[in-house]
Amino acid sequence: MAVPKRKTSPSKKGMRRSHHALTPASYQECPNCGELKRPHNLCSACGHYNGREIVAPAD
Ligand SMILES: [Zn+2]
Repeated sequence: MAVPKRKTSPSKKGMRRSHHALTPASYQECPNCGELKRPHNLCSACGHYNGREIVAPAD
């Protein structure tokens, strides 16, 4: 079995993991009700998408 010649240093490990950070989830205001919603997703508060009501809001 192939085995690494040297131990990966903490510095090299940190450099490799510098790209691993997660970006915070984005939110936009719903143009219908002003509630925060994920872009390209149905508004969970009023059920609108693209200016139309897709589902009736839950009571
Ligand atoms: Zn809405």
